[in-house]
Amino acid sequence: MVRFTVLASGSKGNSAVICGGRTRILVDAGLSCREIFRRMKLAGEEPEALDAIVITHEHQDHINGLAVTARKLGIPVYFTESTHRAWVRWLTPRRQMTYAQWLELCRKQAAARQAELESEPHLPDPADTDPEDVEADCSVSEAATLEASADSTPEKPADRPPSLKEDPTWLPAVEYFRAGQPFTIGDICLSPFTIPHDAADPVGFVLSAEGVRMGFATDLGYITPNVKQQLRNLDLLLLESNHDLEMLRDGPYPWAVKQRVLSRVGHLSNEAASEFLSTVYDGQARYVILAHLSENNNLPELARVAAERALLGRASLLANHLLLAEQHQPLVPLIF
Ligand SMILES: [Zn+2]
Ligand SMILES: [Zn+2]
Repeated sequence: MVRFTVLASGSKGNSAVICGGRTRILVDAGLSCREIFRRMKLAGEEPEALDAIVITHEHQDHINGLAVTARKLGIPVYFTESTHRAWVRWLTPRRQMTYAQWLELCRKQAAARQAELESEPHLPDPADTDPEDVEADCSVSEAATLEASADSTPEKPADRPPSLKEDPTWLPAVEYFRAGQPFTIGDICLSPFTIPHDAADPVGFVLSAEGVRMGFATDLGYITPNVKQQLRNLDLLLLESNHDLEMLRDGPYPWAVKQRVLSRVGHLSNEAASEFLSTVYDGQARYVILAHLSENNNLPELARVAAERALLGRASLLANHLLLAEQHQPLVPLIF
């Protein structure tokens, strides 16, 4: 059985749970850990059963609860390398320092951990690595790998991970993927694809499990030819329908923000989503979910009516069932 549950969608937090076979993953962790757990339980999902967290991009509404959730569950986080770096930089107090100073800080922290390790030789430390290596990319994946390899020395006690305060960027394990290169987590296959958005290396996904294909495309300025190519033969399509153009133009946002949202690396409007649904979309999906609706520049009715018009004549009991993902409560779990 495959189960797809949107826990939250919108600029105040995005997160969804996908279960396929024996695997459960969280795509984005934009709510607090507590709220992710609460909503998972509401939707009949067990947080403790999650196997991994996958991140689309480093904007706050997609990563807010990431560190706490991953730490609490002790599960790996899948990023692109650029997104991981951007996340690390976001968590370090970069506003008060230059990039060079930040690198220097990383080196000092690594050296301090090294010194600590030398003074306590029986405790394996996840940062047990050449400080130069840490300086090179400040990646915690190496640290995680080293921690994993430390498991092969059973006489040593389990390491205590650094607290959030000591190192807010520490994660139990980090795995890198690249857009255009499919990978698997347990029984779920993920095909990441590049989306045009103002983040370091943002991606959408097609996830498949047990022959069910689910497309995930939010936070994109426009639908590129490659995105069109990816969003085919789906059983479920989750598509951004962020704003109504008129509401955005006449709305409360400052001019610069309006320009950002409207830009080629901003967000998809109701009009653009409808255009895709009426002209490109192959009409195969059982469910079409409109997502990442703006609370200031959109109304659920406007998004729904625009999409309904675009899908006109194609909605039936078996196909193109239209749903709206919400910000404040989980969507009913969709089962295949
Ligand atoms: Zn977002
Ligand atoms: Zn974003």
